[in-house]
Amino acid sequence: MARTLFQKVWDAHTVRVLPNGQTQLYIGLHLVHEVTSPQAFAELRERGWPVRAPQRTFATIDHIVPTRAQARPFADAMAESMTEALERNCRDYGIKFFDLASGSQGIVHVIGPEMGLTQPGMTIACGDSHTSTHGAFGAIAFGIGTSQVRDVLASQCLALSPLKVRRIEVNGALRPGVYAKDVILTIIGRLGVNGGTGYAYEYAGEVFDRMTMDERMTVCNMSIEGGARVGYVNPDDTTIEFLRGRPYVPKGVAFDKAAAWWRGMASDPGAPYDDVIRLDGAEIAPTVTWGINPGQSVAVHAQLPRPDDSPSGDRAGLVEALDFMGFRAGQPIAGTKIDVAFIGSCTNGRLSDLREAAHVVAGHHVAKHVRALVVPGSQKVAIAAEKEGLDQIFRDAGFEWRGAGCSMCLAMNPDRLEGREVCASSSNRNFKGRQGSPTGRTLLMSPAMVAAAAISGEVVDIRSFPVAAPAAV
Ligand code: SF4
Repeated sequence: MARTLFQKVWDAHTVRVLPNGQTQLYIGLHLVHEVTSPQAFAELRERGWPVRAPQRTFATIDHIVPTRAQARPFADAMAESMTEALERNCRDYGIKFFDLASGSQGIVHVIGPEMGLTQPGMTIACGDSHTSTHGAFGAIAFGIGTSQVRDVLASQCLALSPLKVRRIEVNGALRPGVYAKDVILTIIGRLGVNGGTGYAYEYAGEVFDRMTMDERMTVCNMSIEGGARVGYVNPDDTTIEFLRGRPYVPKGVAFDKAAAWWRGMASDPGAPYDDVIRLDGAEIAPTVTWGINPGQSVAVHAQLPRPDDSPSGDRAGLVEALDFMGFRAGQPIAGTKIDVAFIGSCTNGRLSDLREAAHVVAGHHVAKHVRALVVPGSQKVAIAAEKEGLDQIFRDAGFEWRGAGCSMCLAMNPDRLEGREVCASSSNRNFKGRQGSPTGRTLLMSPAMVAAAAISGEVVDIRSFPVAAPAAV
């Protein structure tokens, strides 16, 4: 019988069905970071349990790491003690730790794919919501809580209920100035932030077929913002070529064998779906969030919604968002003054994102009133960008060039908004307080749009922004 990739991966990793109806699912890869692991390791120690599969467990530091001064010990005692705890836990339990000295440190969802740890057909778990990123490779990747981190460390398994599968097909061609970020913001805007509850999202159609792996990661990363527990793209030639030669990927004949198996995990023609949604790629515009969740977005040339014209169910939410953001119903989003521009995060902190943004800023200068920073998603991204001279383009334009980390995406480090600042951000969440100030305001958009906003000092349409030079790539 024809099966979806989700069903194939689920079946291949099922250990048994538990008496409560959940499935005990084997986890192929467990990614660990400093924030959600200390308590889990502490519980293992208390019980005297070993880590079940240290060879399938990899760690990094990302959330709390400062991006300006990365020399140890960190100035922040809490950040230093969390880092020391992870070092100790990795040493004691035989876990590979991509620390700052490794040259491979970075945001957990950037380094997994970069190292070739993330592979098609896998089950992946990590104590972070945006683990859905890894679905770009045709993996089923779950964000989990601290108690589940403990479970995976101890047993390499999770108890989970199966998900329904919604196929989201986007066909046609994206127009110039429209990026993967705009595609996923449009999907979330259309289906709602809770629209994916109980579902895995399978992204299919010409638009995703043409996307690079970086772009697919941007899309899958934000599946969780649409309520979907996981999101994935079926593995294809693009996936396989991305993985070829990466450190943890099989070599030679073993690679060819693996590639054949990976291809076989793609959804079969005629596989059954619980739901199918179709969008026209040509209708997607550069998109900006205006509110306090990623579903509250508009095309950059459009106006904010009017609560009185909206279905009664979401009226209160719209009023609350407009009040918090200090916006008027029906006002245009373009022209909104910004104070801060942030390019980075596991959504848009990869090399191709930095290239796109550098292409926009080249030959321009950041507006006087704007604080602008670029934070590479990993040390490897930083090194590659510096080799291409992107750091210099950003510096010349007035951006700060930082070390790798989560930075202002979550502000569990010194990079934070102050007071009511408005931030044009390439990250994934615009919740109240997300960027460190309880009253700070976040506008999510593509890295190219953040770059254009930094230069203009306000939200502008990338389609009419004067780009100085042809794209380097
Ligand atoms: S960049 Fe943001 S969303 Fe991604 S792992 Fe870090 S804090 Fe989480």
